[in-house]
Order: sequence, then structure tokens, then C-alpha cells
Amino acid sequence: MEIIRTVKRLEEVVDDARSKGLSIGLVPTMGALHAGHRSLVERARAENDIVITSVFVNPTQFNNPEDLRTYPRTEEADCRMLEECGVDYAFVPSVQEMYPEPDTRVFDLGPVAEVMEGAMRPGHFNGVAQIVSRLFALAKPTRAYFGEKDFQQIAVIRRMVELEGFDLEIVPCPIVRESDGLALSSRNVRLSPEARATAPKIHYLLEQSLNLKADGMQPKELAATVAAAIDDVEGLETEYYSIVDAETMQPIDRWEDAGVLGAVGCVTVFCGGVRLIDNIRY
Ligand code: AMP
Repeated sequence: MEIIRTVKRLEEVVDDARSKGLSIGLVPTMGALHAGHRSLVERARAENDIVITSVFVNPTQFNNPEDLRTYPRTEEADCRMLEECGVDYAFVPSVQEMYPEPDTRVFDLGPVAEVMEGAMRPGHFNGVAQIVSRLFALAKPTRAYFGEKDFQQIAVIRRMVELEGFDLEIVPCPIVRESDGLALSSRNVRLSPEARATAPKIHYLLEQSLNLKADGMQPKELAATVAAAIDDVEGLETEYYSIVDAETMQPIDRWEDAGVLGAVGCVTVFCGGVRLIDNIRY
């Protein structure tokens, strides 16, 4: 595996691969890699001739400077894992290399980016669109892999792809969890032992809520019931729980209102001061 630190070198290897007609799989990450990331990389490895994984903590998507400052950075271990997974190129640029000039682009992301994470983290999705569009323009992937843990992010990226006219396939990948149900996240290392013990209740309560749907409860009431159940757990505090159409990200009143992709419940919970996100398909 080659570690690439410059845009120039990335362009060289991409041009070479493209000229040979090779397919390119791209896995964008912010590092601190875990088995969730690995599942994306392995899928990309299975489906493409060349696999590029980017490791870049993108400052423009952080709306909270403290979160950016304390974001875990484990470059050496990340590169070891990527090499073990058979990645061809780890793209690990500096901030200066990615943004020689400040990126002032404002994307018209529309309704998918206005709710939930978009409402709670102003500027976050515009920053995601900035970095991902830049990575797509440079790596010219045939396919790009994203985890469904960040469910809304995938909808936002699809919108950005439509706006920018990229010709590539977005491949959504299922959430990877710990054996106790907690969704893997780079931020989980920030959980205290007590918070770590409490955090799996989030997934447990989401799963239990499938029974409420089976009993006939409609989305709005169900969402309020789940949020209250999470808040009843000592150490957990719901920021939002929304049941939305899995394509448009807009809240639905009745299950029949969901389109072909169905409904998804998206949650953000503070657990011992750490902001965790998760979701479940209904
Ligand atoms: P991040 O490094 O957190 O920006 O994540 C990079 C990619 O890995 C994103 O597409 C995430 O959705 C995905 N990802 C993160 N955690 C998980 C997980 N537990 N399961 C599946 N994909 C994940």
C-alpha cells in the first residue's frame, strides 16, 4: 500500500488507473478506523480493481471547535489496518493540501440537509459536501462507499452528486455494531466506562420500538415514546428522534406516507457528554 500525501500524486495514480480502464473504489473516512470502516473497505476491495481510502479529519464539517480539537487521530494504526485489508492507496493529506484556499462553496442541498443533523449542526453538511465533492473530483471513483450509520449523510451526498453531475455509484453499507448493539463510532473512545455501559440501551430501545409499530402505533407517537424511553435511562438524553422517509429525510405522519425506500428512525443521544447517533429501519 502506498500512502499518498499530495493531490498531485493522487491525480497521477488515478489518471494511470483510469487510462487502463480499471475501476476505482473510494472510501472516505476521518480515520480512527474501526470495524465499521473496515466493512466499507472490504466491500470496496471486493468490487473494484483499485481501492483508495482517504483519511482526513475535515475541519469544514465541524461546527464545534472542541469536537475538532479532540477528534481521535490514530494515523499509524489506521494505515496498518488499511494495508491488512488490501487497500492500494491511503490518501492522507494535510489541511493545507486539501484546502490551499478556503473553500467558500455553498451547496444548495435542499430539504434533505435542513432537518435533524442539518438543523442541529449548522454548516455540517455543507462541509461534508465540500470535502466529498473534492475527493470525488480528485479520485474519480467508479463507486464510493458510505455507512448507513450516518444515514442522512448518504441522502445529502446523493443530492450533492446530482448537483455536481458526478458519474459514479454511491454504495450504502449496513451499520456495524458491537456485540451489545452499540453502533461502532470513532467517538466511542470518549465514553467513560459508565457511559459505555449505558450506550447500548439506545439500540436496544430502538429495536424494542419495532414492537410498537407491529402493535399499530403511528410514527409521531412512536417517535415521542422512544425519545421518552431513552430519556428515562439515567445518563441518556435525546436530542431528537425523528421517523422520516428514507429517501427525502422528511418526517412522516403515517407509515403509508413512506416512499419506496421505507421509513427510518434517526436518533441523536447525549451519553455522558458524548453525542452518539444511530438509526433503525421500520
Ligand atoms: P467517519 O470516519 O466517521 O467520517 O466515517 C467514515 C465512513 O464510515 C462513513 O461513511 C460512515 O458512515 C462509516 N461508518 C462509521 N461508523 C460505521 C459503522 N458503525 N458501521 C458502518 N459504517 C460506519
